[in-house]
Amino acid sequence: MSVLEIKDLHVSVETDQGTKQILHGVNLTINEGEIHAIMGPNGSGKSTLAYTIAGHPKYTVDSGSILLDGEEVTTMTVDQRARAGLFLAMQYPVEIPGVTVTNFLRTAKTAIDGSAPPIRTWIKDVRESMKQLRMDKSFAERNVNEGFSGGEKKRNEILQLELLKPKFAVLDETDSGLDVDALKIVSEGVNRAKENTGLGLLLITHYTRILRYIKPDFVHVFVDGRIAEQGGPELADRLEDEGYDRFLTESNVG
Ligand code: ADP
Ligand code: MG
Ligand code: MG
Repeated sequence: MSVLEIKDLHVSVETDQGTKQILHGVNLTINEGEIHAIMGPNGSGKSTLAYTIAGHPKYTVDSGSILLDGEEVTTMTVDQRARAGLFLAMQYPVEIPGVTVTNFLRTAKTAIDGSAPPIRTWIKDVRESMKQLRMDKSFAERNVNEGFSGGEKKRNEILQLELLKPKFAVLDETDSGLDVDALKIVSEGVNRAKENTGLGLLLITHYTRILRYIKPDFVHVFVDGRIAEQGGPELADRLEDEGYDRFLTESNVG
């Protein structure tokens, strides 16, 4: 049983105006197979949390910890995090000229598993996942992210998720800019990963729309760098009706 634990995490970032504290004590435990949605207003620090888990060098952990099955993640390199079983969509946002989707996936899989996947089953797995994500075969031979549309980038993320089989994934606003069809396809991919490999997921979103397709076990309201409230899926419905104002007011007063 795998578990990702975030404990009293305080994070700051260097800006032109000096050091700015963004996360003020985040506590969150995600067990294998659980889907946790983080919702919150713009600027509340959701992406900072994602980047910190990813190991983005701009973000400094001032105190607290992130533990994956008891191992401290915050001192790991980005590669070590991937090998430990974390999937961070932001890890590969860049275009990689001259590297095809197929070659990239195989290299990443080999690095993460420590040995190359058997070629026959690998090719079959790649084809099967691409088919389920309704990706054209020609996609496999394109260079990573080069000229990809928003929807293609998201599908490519989910393709990686399905094939690299991480223990935990962080998806930051994967739903933004997707039309309903693409959103469904991407959501089905995430749900398959949960079913097939017991993926634990941190799903960061500003809108409740994606939660119609990916059912969260827990919903956390993120305000001013910390979790202001948590609940079940019904909390997302309440947020849709009421917005974040109530939490903003409370945090301003408190
Ligand atoms: P969210 O994803 O919830 O919209 P962010 O984590 O992107 O929030 O940002 C939280 C706050 O931290 C914002 O005020 C933002 O301007 C600031 N911030 C985040 N990253 C940086 C950065 N690299 N440089 C300067 N300020 C940043
Ligand atoms: Mg504090
Ligand atoms: Mg963000």
